Amino acid sequence: MNPWLMSLLLYVFLAMFAGTIADRYWILRAGEPDMRWDRIGLRLRNLLTIGFGQKRLLYEKAAGRMHVAIFSGFLVALLRTLTLIGRGYDPQYHLPFLVGPVGVAYAFLKDTLTLVVLVAVGYAVYRRLVLRPRRLHLSAEAVLILFWIATLMITDLIGDAALFRLQPDFPERTGAWVGNLLTGMFAGSDPATVRVWFEIMFWGHVILVLAFLNVLPFGKHFHVLTALPSVFMGRLTPSAALERMEFEGRETFGVGKLEDFSWRRILDMYSCTECGRCNDACPAHLTDKPLRPREIITDARDQAYELSDHLVAVGKLKAQGRVKEAAELIAAQDRPALVGEVNSEDALWACTTCGWCVSACPVVIDHIPHIIDQRRHLTMMEAKVPPALQNALKGLENNSNPWNVGAAAREDWIGDQPVPLLREKGRAEYLLFVGCAGSFDSRNQDVMRALCTLLDKAQVDYAVLGTEEGCCGDPARRVGHEYLFQMQAPVNVETFKKYEVRKVVTACPHCFNTIANEYPDFGLQDVEVIHHGELLADLVAEGRLKVGAAAAAKVTYHDSCYLGRHNGIYEAPREVLSAVGGLDLVEMPRNRRAGFCCGAGGGRMFMEEDLGTRINHARIAEAAATGASEVCTACPFCLTMLGDAINETDRSENLRARDIAEVLLENLE
Ligand code: SF4
Ligand code: SF4
Repeated sequence: MNPWLMSLLLYVFLAMFAGTIADRYWILRAGEPDMRWDRIGLRLRNLLTIGFGQKRLLYEKAAGRMHVAIFSGFLVALLRTLTLIGRGYDPQYHLPFLVGPVGVAYAFLKDTLTLVVLVAVGYAVYRRLVLRPRRLHLSAEAVLILFWIATLMITDLIGDAALFRLQPDFPERTGAWVGNLLTGMFAGSDPATVRVWFEIMFWGHVILVLAFLNVLPFGKHFHVLTALPSVFMGRLTPSAALERMEFEGRETFGVGKLEDFSWRRILDMYSCTECGRCNDACPAHLTDKPLRPREIITDARDQAYELSDHLVAVGKLKAQGRVKEAAELIAAQDRPALVGEVNSEDALWACTTCGWCVSACPVVIDHIPHIIDQRRHLTMMEAKVPPALQNALKGLENNSNPWNVGAAAREDWIGDQPVPLLREKGRAEYLLFVGCAGSFDSRNQDVMRALCTLLDKAQVDYAVLGTEEGCCGDPARRVGHEYLFQMQAPVNVETFKKYEVRKVVTACPHCFNTIANEYPDFGLQDVEVIHHGELLADLVAEGRLKVGAAAAAKVTYHDSCYLGRHNGIYEAPREVLSAVGGLDLVEMPRNRRAGFCCGAGGGRMFMEEDLGTRINHARIAEAAATGASEVCTACPFCLTMLGDAINETDRSENLRARDIAEVLLENLE
């Protein structure tokens, strides 16, 4: 065609692109190190299922299919673009593996997907401009990109049509059915006119593709390039497991500036598609708190782009190991504070760490560590915590419980019930980790006593630690007091080791998550951790607990975020309830993976909720709307929040909240 022109275009556009990508790379290097290439097999599986398979997008039918269509079209069109670039040098060029029947099959696939992409783009424009889902911004950039994509598809098809008119025996014509059909539009045109059409479509397509590449890094469509690496380098641990923070050799703790984030968190910022799925069911956002998880990511990204030159310089210094000079450069930079101005303190404290955002994000952005890292800065660097939380932290420091009750009272809940203590018994198959709520909160003490009665009836060999138990550390860790958490966790781990504990059962999903997913970083190995919902379901299934029938009643089950979404335990508590004859288990609209938070996680249990409406009120309204007379839970925090909401909204005559253990105990044969 025209090798000189093609070379010039490639040189100009690719040089510009390389310059932009180099800047983006140095910005990543301005972040802290983070190892993200271990367990390659698992990473490849995530790449295939979440990245190429678009698994999370398909949670939503219409929008998900639309995106899958566009994504598939793009993958196929990539080969087409390479072919067209080759044809700039040799008009008959084909990629070596796309010749003969394979080339014909590819042409068929390409034309079919091109049409599919056009339909998907049409739907996307309709959705943005007419349907206007609440979660999407009305963004000119998004609409422009959609038209850009459509134009790419159209120039490709018309270019093919003109080519086939000029060269009726072109090899792939039999497969390129749409291009072939469109040759009709040139009926009666003289070859010179068709040639002009072909040249315009060919060069127009090539220029649009190369320009598209250069536009991508400047907006949310950068995800086209970063989403797959982002998925490959995503976290592999359970979503509520926070990474251990190292204190040695550090002068600052948590994230107070962009440069304190790891490079992986900056990659998260590049990859956000601004789809708003994270905002969609965020309990804080839906109850009018100032938190929107999407904006936590994109506001930080916008600041990164504003500080681009500075971050590039920092990145280059860090890459050369000139850490002191990098630190001086960072200290000299005047900019709005990341914590407090870019992300408001109220927004950071509003998060319940429910995990909805993390589970919904199609490019596996990890909002919770973004937020907790900034809370760590507030808590440990600035000593700025909400007033109500101060008492809880004092209690955790002095008495190892957030209720700040004397540590010596930790086993008072036992009363005269024959609950075995490990220090007296020596060994037991199960350590029942009671947790602070079960130990100190009167409502949850009832649950713990019911659970112990059930374990006794099923002749389970168990014991509790009593005053040797300390807080698992969940509240301290979620509010950003990592130092306190790292004081608490090893104490419990050492106690477990002292008694050679091999199995831990707990009625608290927060204790469950911390012990199962976070204690291994503190030396707990080869210990099986189960939730009481699972143990009770097994005891019922094995016939060790014989269940009778209740008076006919409708009940609903509320999924604890830390048990369900974060740890995938949805069915066991439901099996316990379903085993009770007479109970009609009805589901709330938001259940299992889509379950709605009670508002207590992330340390929110110990803070005032004075912004917006109350999360537990929203949830209890949903439970009441099912017509159930009972809302059952398997979490002490949820039980407290739902019980409070029932009282505060005057529903106590028609609705009550109970733990599954209480329901089971009441209905044993
Ligand atoms: S973890 Fe839950 S509360 Fe926190 S930002 Fe995500 S969706 Fe919102
Ligand atoms: S963080 Fe994820 S879910 Fe939220 S807007 Fe960005 S891409 Fe969408």
